[in-house]
Amino acid sequence: MLPPERTPRQRIMELLTGTRLTTHQLAQMLAIPERQVEDHLVHVVKSITRDKTSRFVLEPSRCQDCDFVFRDRRRLTRPSRCPHCRSEGIAAPRYGIDSVGPQAGQVDSKASGK
Ligand SMILES: [Zn+2]
Repeated sequence: MLPPERTPRQRIMELLTGTRLTTHQLAQMLAIPERQVEDHLVHVVKSITRDKTSRFVLEPSRCQDCDFVFRDRRRLTRPSRCPHCRSEGIAAPRYGIDSVGPQAGQVDSKASGK
């Protein structure tokens, strides 16, 4: 039997699970153009939204000059400039997938610091 071929979307989901990456980083890891990563991401988000065991996390873009955060921005691509200070030094949004296992919902009660 042939080993199962992973689609770029499956690989993106694997790469994003438990971490946060920019589309640029994903493009490098998958050796595909960033534009294609963005295209795949749209579909990844859709399947994650349907999947009760995972949650898609988006860390919004942020202006590196004035710290303006693009919270309302729904699009996955990076804004070209800051509406606040007009800076083009915008940090790319980062994406990640958190798994929400069957045990999820439990609050870690051991989280008290030492
Ligand atoms: Zn700014």
